[in-house]
Amino acid sequence: MTEPLIDTHCHLVLLDERGLLHTALEGAAAAGVETIVTVGVDLEDSDRNREIAEAHANVWFTVGWDPQQSQPPDAAQRRALADLVQHPRAVAVGEVGLDLFFRPGYHETPLQVQQRSFLTMLELAAEFDKPVVIHDRDAHDEVIAALGHVPDVHGLMHCFTGDAVHMRRCVDRGFAVSFAGIVTFKHAGDIQEAASGVPADAYVVETDAPFLTPVPHRGTANLPERVADTAAKIAALRAEPEDEVRRRTTATARRVLRLPEPA
Ligand SMILES: [Zn+2]
Repeated sequence: MTEPLIDTHCHLVLLDERGLLHTALEGAAAAGVETIVTVGVDLEDSDRNREIAEAHANVWFTVGWDPQQSQPPDAAQRRALADLVQHPRAVAVGEVGLDLFFRPGYHETPLQVQQRSFLTMLELAAEFDKPVVIHDRDAHDEVIAALGHVPDVHGLMHCFTGDAVHMRRCVDRGFAVSFAGIVTFKHAGDIQEAASGVPADAYVVETDAPFLTPVPHRGTANLPERVADTAAKIAALRAEPEDEVRRRTTATARRVLRLPEPA
């Protein structure tokens, strides 16, 4: 494989907490992952991701407030999020979105609270002209409805879990869909169908590391280098050469997240 890859979504702060930051960065470089986007879930986490991005030339960060947060950002937090999103290494607002997978210990934030957080963050993205990275778990219709309030906002549907029909809705709305390791799982037929049919310039790949380890590495912490396994699976599904998938997803990630070509 000669074409570089981009991991459009991982959590380097969480890998750092597990003592895996250097393993992650070295493994990515060895596997041809030229750029890593590390994603924030709240103000403090986004700021810690900023520190990692400042220390590593191939790492960029996002400024997020995820649907698990128990309250929308207050005025002071919103100002701090706005400051952070103007940082030269900040590429997007996210992750933000809606999550209707309610479980004790996972999260129990009411939908109405999530919707207020999501709208606040979508407006932040519009104000600073940034793409958004959207978290949608069991909330496809609700996410599309919320996007109706901000027609100029575009970006990525992170960890896409819809079928081919929802994929088409997202693409028609101007979003690229991002496939994570789930597309390699045995019972992911709907997602695999979406990956087979998505236009070649409308999807990217990600790991969501340390979560969602792809086949054949199940049972271990996920790492950015494993984005190669997801790209390989999509190439097989689309009956395309792996290098074609790598080239296309890298070009789309650069376009949507406005990433510069590496020096
Ligand atoms: Zn994530």
